[in-house]
Amino acid sequence: ASMRKERIKRTKTVCTYCGVGCSFEVWTKDRKILKIEPQEEAPVNGISTCIKGKFGWDFVNSEERLTKPLIRRGDEFVEASWDEALSLIASKFRAIKKEHGADALGFIASSKCTNEENFLFQKFARAIIGTNNVDNCARYCQSPASSALMRTVGIGGDSGTIRDIEQSDLVITIGANPAESHPVLATRVKRAHKLHGQKLMVVDLRENELAERADLFVHTKPSTDMIWLNALSKYFLDQGWEDKAFLNNRVNGLEEYKKSLEKFTLEYAEEHTGISKEELIQMANMIHEAKSVCMLWAMGITQHMGGTDSSTAIANLLLITGNFGRPGTGAYPLRGHNNVQGACDFGTMPGWFPGYEAVEDDEVRARYEKAWDVQLPKDPGYDNHQMVEGIEKGDLKALYLFGEEMAIVDSNINYVDKNLENLDFFVVQDVFFSKTAQFADVILPASPSLEKEGTFTNTERRIQRLYQVFEPMGDSKPDWQIFQELANKMGAHWDYKHPSDIMAEAASLATYFAGVSYEKLEGFNSQVWPVKKNGESTPLLYQDTFAFPDGKARLIPVDWTKPHDIGEEFDFHLNNGRLLEHFHEGNMTGRSEGINHKVHEPWVEISLEQARDRGIEDGALVRLTSPYGKIKVRAVVTDRVQGKELYLTMNARKDNEMVNRLTSSYFDYITHTPNYKEAGVKMEILEDE
Ligand code: SF4
Repeated sequence: ASMRKERIKRTKTVCTYCGVGCSFEVWTKDRKILKIEPQEEAPVNGISTCIKGKFGWDFVNSEERLTKPLIRRGDEFVEASWDEALSLIASKFRAIKKEHGADALGFIASSKCTNEENFLFQKFARAIIGTNNVDNCARYCQSPASSALMRTVGIGGDSGTIRDIEQSDLVITIGANPAESHPVLATRVKRAHKLHGQKLMVVDLRENELAERADLFVHTKPSTDMIWLNALSKYFLDQGWEDKAFLNNRVNGLEEYKKSLEKFTLEYAEEHTGISKEELIQMANMIHEAKSVCMLWAMGITQHMGGTDSSTAIANLLLITGNFGRPGTGAYPLRGHNNVQGACDFGTMPGWFPGYEAVEDDEVRARYEKAWDVQLPKDPGYDNHQMVEGIEKGDLKALYLFGEEMAIVDSNINYVDKNLENLDFFVVQDVFFSKTAQFADVILPASPSLEKEGTFTNTERRIQRLYQVFEPMGDSKPDWQIFQELANKMGAHWDYKHPSDIMAEAASLATYFAGVSYEKLEGFNSQVWPVKKNGESTPLLYQDTFAFPDGKARLIPVDWTKPHDIGEEFDFHLNNGRLLEHFHEGNMTGRSEGINHKVHEPWVEISLEQARDRGIEDGALVRLTSPYGKIKVRAVVTDRVQGKELYLTMNARKDNEMVNRLTSSYFDYITHTPNYKEAGVKMEILEDE
């Protein structure tokens, strides 16, 4: 028995799914996962996990894992050695750069991969190739929130920690479904609400699980959140309820902001949002009576043509009411992927070096040029969206993408597919032969989180270490090693022995991470950036100053952006989102038996009213058609949605079920985040198959 016990290994890791950042021990014997055991000392979750964290790991040992580099020969892929594959990539990249310039190459990073890997990838794009064309999937989700917070309070991240959310007097969720998308965070809110008298307000199109237990659930018409937010700010100012001392001492731009609110009366808000005047006043009263308010939001705010402005309206309302810088207050854009925060933090963005320092800033660039001994490009590069457009225009010739399922998750995928086909050279690095990989010229097999070391940064800005559980399967390798080998093939002399060497370099260059070190991150320890040189974390931001040179926050006037009109024919509004059981398209959860047997196909939710009027029965097969494509799914009749609002789950694995066959190429005008949540469709009932 003791022999058997010795072979059982316990390794600390951090969840690979959502941005809550749960950590736990994985019990393994050889390559078998025996169990996931959460530990008291885990800083975020303690002894909790959700179904994904607990049962979502079988994919690591899936027979479908890529284990060898593959090179395209005509319509086929043939196995190749690492040397052959990397030599081919190096020579193609060199040739394309020589013929068309460095900006003909684009780099799409992964928010599933570690901080160190994202750091190296942007270094590869900037220092080895010489382009700022590097981005990550925050472009598809929370870029509007980050840019809104950067322009109002200065830092593109959550203001405090989950502990602050728990301590808050009033939690408001807007366009978010934490019970399914951020489950362990939601349990904290549920607990505080039940046991500590915390108030909960939910504003959404759909009556989600938190809405059912909220003190107030407010249904708003699609795309109108910024109107009620502005109207509440105006109402506060009209009532004289604003936090005058806070505004006087800590905030700029009040006068201009006041002027911008003129049209946002309660009547105007009622007319456009469908929220009654009485309800708007009730919302204002709840905020006024609370000593501390947190606002949590997600894709229901950001994925709109006015996503940055709506996020800005949230920050403005929090400023007007003095809800920043104290425990239990602040702005909480809930990060989707495990490391979407970290991918942005560590510089896979077209305009930013690690730690949000601008590529255009001569002093910052000089610091990196000195450290890396190269000339760096000054102008911000293409974001994800512009890269696809760049292919269409003919100025982007090659793309290197890792850990990102672009051909499913980008909006209007019929358009994306067409462009990916037109690339001269496409490298995809992934754990699986993804849908995106079908378009590749070279496919490189990467290792998932359990097969490597590194750090992830959760939605709280908390940096946590993960330790290697298994050896990489087959010939697959951790992404950072692949970048290093490719850089060296292209003439660099990188010599990182371990991800800690990469973090040390990032810490020496980026002020926000100055005191981040692997020693301080041992085991279940964590650090929350900004981390001072002495290693001290900053869990709660803005206690004394906002992150601007004068230390003051900025109220930014914003106006309403109407969604694009696609014609009356497409008379249903299509909302969409995640499920508790699956993560996005399901490349990982769909290959984890413990999860997949529970839920395996997507569905569309239809209101009782429409079901009655159109004679649609629960389980009926329907076709949804938008100007961009069509899909076929089963209907679920429910009172969660109202009127002509539909809700489609995103866990499609089949081509003709994918939500992004329906979404458009319109986007937030500031960050280019697609307006996934503003799709219009028509619906037909089909004969059962
Ligand atoms: Fe993983 Fe998020 Fe679930 Fe925690 S809440 S176990 S981080 S998916």
